[in-house]
Amino acid sequence: PILANQIAAGEVVERPSSVVKELVENSLDAGADRIEIDIDKGGHKRILVRDNGKGIAKSELELALSRHATSKIHCLDDLEQIASLGFRGEALASISSVARLTISSKPQSQEAAWQAFAEGAELAVKVQPVAHPDGTSVDIQDLFFNTPARRKFLRTEKTEFSHIDELIRRIALSQFEVGFTLKHNGKRVRHYPAAKNAAAREKRIARVCGESFMQQALTLDSQYDGLRLHGWLSLERRHQPEHQFVYVNGRMMRDKLINHAIRQVFNEVHPGEDYPGFVLYLELDPKQVDVNVHPAKHEVRFHQARLVHDFIYRALADVLNQTLT
Ligand code: ADP
Ligand code: MG
Repeated sequence: PILANQIAAGEVVERPSSVVKELVENSLDAGADRIEIDIDKGGHKRILVRDNGKGIAKSELELALSRHATSKIHCLDDLEQIASLGFRGEALASISSVARLTISSKPQSQEAAWQAFAEGAELAVKVQPVAHPDGTSVDIQDLFFNTPARRKFLRTEKTEFSHIDELIRRIALSQFEVGFTLKHNGKRVRHYPAAKNAAAREKRIARVCGESFMQQALTLDSQYDGLRLHGWLSLERRHQPEHQFVYVNGRMMRDKLINHAIRQVFNEVHPGEDYPGFVLYLELDPKQVDVNVHPAKHEVRFHQARLVHDFIYRALADVLNQTLT
């Protein structure tokens, strides 16, 4: 299955930031509220993600590394209403097929911590005792060491790190209750403390999007027929895409339909101007969307696409029109 894993790795593991995404999502699925991401050399050399989540029992460690082993879906019905971020059970197997992976974990109820190691063709996992607090660490070293063709596509340390930084900003806006720390080459680059109230949430947004974004932000919260759209829209005018964030049921998205609705509103209300920044959360019945469209899970398919499109258009138009009058 090593070949199958490497093929799957092509979909899941494009570059260091895609590894970070899978690992951080696993930490979130494990209920962690503190996640530390340690990067060396843009992630080429090392990616270490530590969490204080529920951990993995010793008896499950090997299984966690094997393909299509997921603890998150138990039957086909679950696929219809996926609450967790991961569900394919292939991330760890794919990553370990193109890097050296060490996973250390301790569930609270287990006395000692255990560690498993896998690299490239050797899915032969050694399990050994280790010192580790409650929670899980996944340590990825030498990404693409055995796939030179893919290693060639890695960009500079700085570029790869900026993708990771961007990813952590996006995730930080989807999980306010979770504290995140991001280090690069041993230096702390970002720190987003857990935000448990409205003031702390706005502070986090200011940290991620800038003070001036927040100073000119309008809040919105609209509901219609089981759909809810809430978040912030900033009238600050010099926004680049890095200040545009959309989440569907908590997942970050770059969805064409949503973007289309947003652009349509702005073109009508402020024709010819730059699009403002926004942080928007769309919530709807999980049965109304398919998230299983792409392994990187950036896209969704809405069952009632027209309804969703028009709802977003209406909600944004209402807020913008209020500011015009
Ligand atoms: P998936 O997330 O799709 O289930 P992965 O390959 O990403 O597949 O992870 C495999 C399994 O390993 C998960 O289902 C989970 O049981 C376990 N796991 C991975 N990372 C963690 C973590 N940080 N904390 C607890 N369990 C984890
Ligand atoms: Mg996963």
